[in-house]
Amino acid sequence: MKRVAIFGASGCGRGVLPLARKQLEVSNQEYKLVFVDDQPSSSVVNGHQVLTYSEWLSQPASSRHINIAIANSVIREKLVERSMSDGVQFFEVRASNVVELDDVKIGDGAILCPFVTLTSNIRIGKHFHANIYSYVEHDCVIGDYVTFAPGVKCNGNIHIEDHAYIGSGAVIKQGTPDRPLVIGRGAVVGMGAVVTKSVPPNTTVVGNPARPMNKS
Ligand code: UDP
Repeated sequence: MKRVAIFGASGCGRGVLPLARKQLEVSNQEYKLVFVDDQPSSSVVNGHQVLTYSEWLSQPASSRHINIAIANSVIREKLVERSMSDGVQFFEVRASNVVELDDVKIGDGAILCPFVTLTSNIRIGKHFHANIYSYVEHDCVIGDYVTFAPGVKCNGNIHIEDHAYIGSGAVIKQGTPDRPLVIGRGAVVGMGAVVTKSVPPNTTVVGNPARPMNKS
């Protein structure tokens, strides 16, 4: 039996599992799709069983496949490492209406929600989350464990480093081929922000034009 799981039975996971279910329905294989969660709040969510990770691992399987559907990128990385050490494979969840044009490369375990558009000549690292209605325009380079909330507008020639989080409806101004706009590692872009220049690593920016958040 092929065992397939969505790790996380909270908000993110509940949006992702139906997409995985639809993908699997057309695959013509025998499988069992469940939620995995270390702290299940109930045994069934939206008609699917919720197992702890160790319960899931203890079930006999011909192969195991997981997608880490948790928005917090640090938790996501921790759970990726745990799954890898147990020989679990990662699979991509992609809504059927995602648009992808030419020369797009994406690492393992991505989540591409409904209405996501990826245009041409794009590189994206592992375990990327692109929530509904987000887009990535031409010549962008996106690192590992990057998270887009709904409706992110990532224009051309932008580089986004590992673990950055882009809030809902943020607009990032396009860079140029010789001077891409860079969102630094671990940076956070607040919802609705209009980002007109590069953001240093581990910095939170908000507003229009986006500026570092006053921590007082
Ligand atoms: N979770 C887990 N193992 C961890 C950390 C989190 O199973 O090491 C689960 C947690 O129990 C919760 C989900 O991941 O059900 C995260 O839910 P949350 O609402 O915080 O985030 P979201 O679903 O929006 O990413």
